[in-house]
Amino acid sequence: EMFGQLSSGLEAAWTKLKGEEVLTKENIAEPMRDIRRALLEADVSLPVVRRFVQTVSDQAVGMGVIRGVKPDQQLVKIVHDELVKLMGGEVSELQFSKSGPTVILLAGLQGVGKTTVCAKLACYLKKQGKSCMLIAGDVYRPAAIDQLVILGEQVSVPVYTAGTDVKPADIAKQGLKEAKKNNIDVVIMDTAGRLQIDKGMMDELKDVKKVLNPTEVLLVVDAMTGQEAAALVTTFNVEIGITGAILTKLDGDSRGGAALSVKEVSGKPIKLVGRGERMEDLEPFYPNRMAGRILGMGDVLSFVEKAQEVMRQEDAEDLQKKIMSAKFDFNDFLKQTRAVAKMGSMTRVLGMIPGMGKVSPAQIREAEKSLIIMEAMIEAMTPEEREKPELLAESPERRKRIAKDSGKTEQQVSQLVAQIFQMRVKMKNLMGVMEGGSIPALSD
Ligand code: GDP
Repeated sequence: EMFGQLSSGLEAAWTKLKGEEVLTKENIAEPMRDIRRALLEADVSLPVVRRFVQTVSDQAVGMGVIRGVKPDQQLVKIVHDELVKLMGGEVSELQFSKSGPTVILLAGLQGVGKTTVCAKLACYLKKQGKSCMLIAGDVYRPAAIDQLVILGEQVSVPVYTAGTDVKPADIAKQGLKEAKKNNIDVVIMDTAGRLQIDKGMMDELKDVKKVLNPTEVLLVVDAMTGQEAAALVTTFNVEIGITGAILTKLDGDSRGGAALSVKEVSGKPIKLVGRGERMEDLEPFYPNRMAGRILGMGDVLSFVEKAQEVMRQEDAEDLQKKIMSAKFDFNDFLKQTRAVAKMGSMTRVLGMIPGMGKVSPAQIREAEKSLIIMEAMIEAMTPEEREKPELLAESPERRKRIAKDSGKTEQQVSQLVAQIFQMRVKMKNLMGVMEGGSIPALSD
């Protein structure tokens, strides 16, 4: 299982917070040690681990309480967001040339999967409607050229070859000419890999790069090599200048160090990942999904996100006071129902928590429809009426006017007025439960 060890290492951190009320400097000390250990065991480089742990601790201590969210859930969310940042945040898309063919130059050590990536990349781009051509530039291994030709046939993409007696820079020049003649959208050049970095390889790459003026120079690295991959990306970037990396063999039992370190160490993003030997097994690198996969807690993450969103939308403290003193009025009602509608109903959020019931889409649509009706009636109220629902309870004339102005029936207005008094009672009870720390179901 990819990242399996890292995932379970991090899990140890959350369990230590079970039963805590709030994140403090003291109670996160041990979980932070777990996180540190898990990252180091995943072969993330030490300076990266140090910075990561520091950032997470600072945030955790400064976070305060989010109603309904437990400290261990909070920490999961913080770690998740920092993992995403560590991996570069957004997806880093391949760039395409606006004039003439896009040229992608691939570099990498021997055995990392570079030749395979050439064909996979062509397969991937063909699906986006782009015509591709491969150039075989590994002049030191005739077998590599044969392999590229075979893979090219497999994905139905032409392969330009010039044997092993021509210099790679010349092959590049001829291949590019051929591609332009055939109106090819994307040219992908394979280059020779060595067992280790040496000057000959770098010089050759520089020559090829000069000739091709590529849009992308991508270093193919093997995920199994851990933080070594990040160091390689740095070296290649300093030597020849690259635009990003492709991480292969992520399907193996890679420990995660490469995926987590490359961007932070080298400043260059991972653009694509290979996760299998089939031609289809190449995909963009999504930091978000990767972090989610490492933590394996998608439900907790979206729950905390929604809760934070609601917190931002209303000043919870203020609302609570109003409810406790039974001053909850139509303005609050509107704010509250809108906030709830926006997050796709409170109940749906609660449904994400294991053990809580789910709400059907039909129920949500129904709730949204009645919200629109209620809004129309509240908008027809005077500011005074909104603040003092009692005025409406006492005066049939006022209710009549609102019905007329909002285009609803008097009965609907009466119902709404009754509802706010019911809600005052309900919310008061609800607050009591929330104070107690558990999450109530709002579905009824
Ligand atoms: P090159 O020397 O860098 O050109 O490496 P190759 O493309 O010849 O690949 C070396 C070996 O790694 C081959 O057996 C590939 O099938 C295998 N390989 C490449 N990419 C992946 C991957 O993403 N996952 C797995 N499991 N194997 C891969």
